[in-house]
Amino acid sequence: MQMLIGGAWTPAAQGEVIGVFNPATGELLDQVPLGRAEDVDAAAGAAAGAGPRWSAVPPRERGKRLYAAAQAIRERKEALALLLTREQGKPLAEARNEILGAANVLEYYASIAGTLAGTAAALPGYGHAAVVPQPLGVCAAIVPWNMPALILAWKLGPALLAGNTMVVKPSRSTPLVSLHIAGIVGDACGVPGAVNMVTGTGSGAGEALVAHPVVRHVSFTGQTDTGRRVAARASGDLKQVSLELGGSDPMIVCGDADIAAAVAGALHGRFYNCGQTCTAVKRLYVEAPVYDEFLRKLAAGARAIRVGNGIEPGVAMGPLHRAADRDRLCAMVAALQEDGLARVVAGGGIPGGASPAGQFMEPTILAEPDPAAPVLTEEIFGPVLPVVRVEDLDEAIASANRSRYGLGASIWTRDLAAAARAAEQVRCGIFWVNQHLKIPPDVPFGGTGASGIGRENGMSAPQRYMETKTVLVRP
Ligand code: NAD
Repeated sequence: MQMLIGGAWTPAAQGEVIGVFNPATGELLDQVPLGRAEDVDAAAGAAAGAGPRWSAVPPRERGKRLYAAAQAIRERKEALALLLTREQGKPLAEARNEILGAANVLEYYASIAGTLAGTAAALPGYGHAAVVPQPLGVCAAIVPWNMPALILAWKLGPALLAGNTMVVKPSRSTPLVSLHIAGIVGDACGVPGAVNMVTGTGSGAGEALVAHPVVRHVSFTGQTDTGRRVAARASGDLKQVSLELGGSDPMIVCGDADIAAAVAGALHGRFYNCGQTCTAVKRLYVEAPVYDEFLRKLAAGARAIRVGNGIEPGVAMGPLHRAADRDRLCAMVAALQEDGLARVVAGGGIPGGASPAGQFMEPTILAEPDPAAPVLTEEIFGPVLPVVRVEDLDEAIASANRSRYGLGASIWTRDLAAAARAAEQVRCGIFWVNQHLKIPPDVPFGGTGASGIGRENGMSAPQRYMETKTVLVRP
């Protein structure tokens, strides 16, 4: 596939390409351009050129066009989901879910198009005041590989609805679905250059985009360390920045919880997308009276998960996206076990019978990990779940807060007073009671601490891509 620049499919100026590989088989799926600074410059120029035409489209009409894009994505759901499974690795059912999620997000922004009008008021002594929202201009979106369709929609929806034009940099290893969706949304907008996409590496096209002088806003989703570099680079010419970064979500299971529901929630929360979700359950804190029962059921559930190529029926967990992550996680688990810092009660290695070319790992449960073990202190992006025994809710909350991250967190209990206390005291951007991982487009989503700054989703998302101009009129 080619890049999308100014409404046209375009090769890299220097003609270089990079391969896109299937993590379940190692197969080369396609090649995309290796975009460099001159390609970013062309895309930013196209976006700037399209700005006046797109911002002149009334907001309700912009909403209708986003709605049309959502319908086109729904119509192509099967083909897009299959491509997503093949380039990212997630099972087909999860890929379908993500594609429909992206359509849902665009429909949500279409539905709130009427809220973008400014305000006007009579100000005695000054005359009349109008507060007029205006698009920022060219916005950059930088997207990771773990949810390349959904996170793209989180950024395209509000920024385009607000009247901005976009340059997107997808991950180098999952550009294919992103390019298709960018093409669909760009066509639906009807203004060539409203949506541009430059493929390539983070250090090449990514850094050039963040530093480009016409870009006024950078919406970045990815690792915390990358986010720091992006923020530093964007600060030079005072770009607005939003950073959606890593997480190490705690899940608390109280003694009175519905154990079957909590076990199912933990399995889904950790092993969905092979554990590669920013808000995955990454640390489990279980109250002592139910710890042994919970651990036994959780380990049995983990062992029952069928691992394999996501296009095969019945496969519930695909490969890790990156081979290096699989090898690092297997080595980490082996070292924890060897050093007596955790007990492996399910999984821990490479599943027997899996294709040797695929980057598979068994769903892994670790009992009673040492509090200082990296599996509790770092973000673990893969299918490894440490289960900690705690005496009571106070200990669970204190342990949950022992992390530099603050993205999501959940509690599983029948006691609403306990849930309310945890919701108040656990440091995070989104808190769930008796559920985890749910991210509806209707409400703000984002993190605190090392999980980032800013919020995506919700009614206020388009405002984050706008600034207001105040006009005072003296009759
Ligand atoms: P990453 O930081 O390696 O890359 C993310 C994107 O940034 C990619 O497109 C990459 O090419 C680009 N990039 C890399 N270096 C860059 C640079 N110097 N300048 C500009 N762009 C650069 O992250 P990843 O491994 O692709 O994604 C996984 C991470 O994303 C995890 O930490 C996960 O928790 C996080 N994440 C967060 C959220 C959230 O909403 N908070 C959602 C999904 C993923």
